[in-house]
Amino acid sequence: MDRLIPYSRQHIDAADIRAVVKVLKSDFLTQGPKIEQFEAILARVVGARYAVVFSSGTAALHAAYAAAGIGKGDEVITSPLTFAATGNMALALGAEVVFADVNPETGLLDPQEVERKITKRTKAVVPVDYAGLPVDLTAYRRIAKRHGLVFIEDSAQGLGATYKRKPVGAQADMTMFSFHPVKSITTGEGGAITTNNKTYYEKMLLFRTHGITKDKTKYKRKDRAPWYHEMHELGFNYRLTDLQAALGVSQIKKLSQFITARAKLARRYDRLLQNLKHIRTPIMPSDRTSAWHLYVIRIESNKKDARDFAFNELRKKGIGTQVHYIPMYEHPYYAQLGYRKGSYPLAEMFSYSALSIPLYPALTRVQQDSVIAALRALDKKL
Ligand SMILES: *Cc1c(COP(=O)(O)O)cnc(C)c1O
Repeated sequence: MDRLIPYSRQHIDAADIRAVVKVLKSDFLTQGPKIEQFEAILARVVGARYAVVFSSGTAALHAAYAAAGIGKGDEVITSPLTFAATGNMALALGAEVVFADVNPETGLLDPQEVERKITKRTKAVVPVDYAGLPVDLTAYRRIAKRHGLVFIEDSAQGLGATYKRKPVGAQADMTMFSFHPVKSITTGEGGAITTNNKTYYEKMLLFRTHGITKDKTKYKRKDRAPWYHEMHELGFNYRLTDLQAALGVSQIKKLSQFITARAKLARRYDRLLQNLKHIRTPIMPSDRTSAWHLYVIRIESNKKDARDFAFNELRKKGIGTQVHYIPMYEHPYYAQLGYRKGSYPLAEMFSYSALSIPLYPALTRVQQDSVIAALRALDKKL
């Protein structure tokens, strides 16, 4: 059998490899010049004043939540249709995760549902750019302003997407991107927060490096020796290495090329899958463009366990698919905290019918044709 066509994978070229090797031969493997270079390019690409890169998207979320002042007694509202990290980092700070239901067509967190969940304890709202499609940023900015909340956009999947013709990354209070291999660009592991807010920016820099500052102008005690430094906050080692930052610099130059390739494949799926009986293609609002992190089809059939049947049928033909996501509160860890299945029916309906099919820049036409043929055959069995 041929190798499995995965649902996603990275795209690394010779320039990427050269960039990493160059750092390996240099003086700094970490804490060198590549970090600031990557941050400057990222901030420019998304149109934000500041970017802070981290060792992972998860670390970036942790830092953003801490910068927002999220802690014990606070509530953070997010989508059930996301990767665990979005909720987990709020729990890590002692806050409570509150879910709200999604739009049944796009899977995006519904702003009206969010508004109904706001209490006196709500500190932040964290909608997720599911599959790379931006949430309604105007609606969330309005909600955050009206209720005095911090708006943190989990755009782990959305680097390269646009909302009302502007790139995501400068419209929320803070925007998180991930550089895991399946995301828009990769650094192996890695993530970032972009923001226009200087206070958040400075807090995140401290959080990334043990809460320690070497900036003399910030010292609380004056007239110190040249070796002196101060720890001001509880922080972590959440740094990205220079090896990774160099890869990031090389990758981000190809961002628009990657997104164009993904969008082209997505349009081809849209076109060639439109007449199937039990398979629905994704629905896209017209005021935004997706980064096309995922191409999520919906299996609509009365057949029992139709989605799992589809997963297995495709797997038999060497086609890798994945479910994004099991509603977060259904995981045993969250269930044990008191969250219950049945709470968010639209998210559950979406989740139980969703299947991400292969989509990544290097997917060939021949491979895509084999996916389409397999889906056509599957449709007849559903
Ligand atoms: C990938 C992802 C994360 C976590 O990012 P890592 O870089 O893997 O830590 C968080 N949220 C969402 C929606 C993601 O897709």
